[in-house]
Amino acid sequence: MRRPLVAGNWKMNGLGASLAELRALKDRLAQSPVPEADGMVCPPATLLAQARYMLSGSTIILGAQDCHPLPSGAHTGDISAEMLADAGAAAIIVGHSERRSDHGETDALVNAKASAAYRAGLTAIICVGESEQQRRDGSTLEIVRRQLQGSLPQEARAANTVIAYEPVWAIGSGLTPTPADVAEVHGFIRGELGRLLGQAEAGAALRLLYGGSVKPANASELLFVPDVDGALVGGASLKASDFYAILSAYAGRGAG
Ligand code: PEP
Repeated sequence: MRRPLVAGNWKMNGLGASLAELRALKDRLAQSPVPEADGMVCPPATLLAQARYMLSGSTIILGAQDCHPLPSGAHTGDISAEMLADAGAAAIIVGHSERRSDHGETDALVNAKASAAYRAGLTAIICVGESEQQRRDGSTLEIVRRQLQGSLPQEARAANTVIAYEPVWAIGSGLTPTPADVAEVHGFIRGELGRLLGQAEAGAALRLLYGGSVKPANASELLFVPDVDGALVGGASLKASDFYAILSAYAGRGAG
């Protein structure tokens, strides 16, 4: 019942010329669609308007990365959720570990940013995940529980929210947790979502992505773990062929 989602996070990568990859992805999907899953690309904000134009007529959903909590005002260099919606985004990644570490973002700020996404009518993709030290200490579940509790707005529902579990040590490192470890954390998050949203059914309906070094070679192993409803993909989303290969792991198959 949960439709899989594979979302590509381009991070601070991509100039106008990179739109050629988006075109290649669009063409590939037009030739060989993957109707079993949603594909989303989140380029930098500078490319959103052009990407929207490029993607017209395509099934690829356009997303954005980060937003300011307020709709407008004197915040030089910041971009509001309303602006991202206006530029064509349907979703915003918030609480990515790089924002949490590079910019000291707290759970309260991530919560406010997710609420800003809702205010603008967008889906919030809320990221959580433990550091290498926290995994070694055995505190993964406690960290994820605390991040979820602090970052998830009360109005969160399946229709406006996606959770991405991204172990920080797996991001960009080529390392991944075992499928059993992913299953443990995703199962735990599923239970917590039910508790936080006050209804097991609400938690059961929400999409829960795994992120961290997902590549074509490991996609099938990671995407079909129980309670994994897709992936948040960084590096491998920059190449249309790799991103398509990950998305097409769903071709002919249902949700995990
Ligand atoms: C990410 O940054 O969200 C991510 C998962 O990156 P990578 O796929 O490169 O590990």
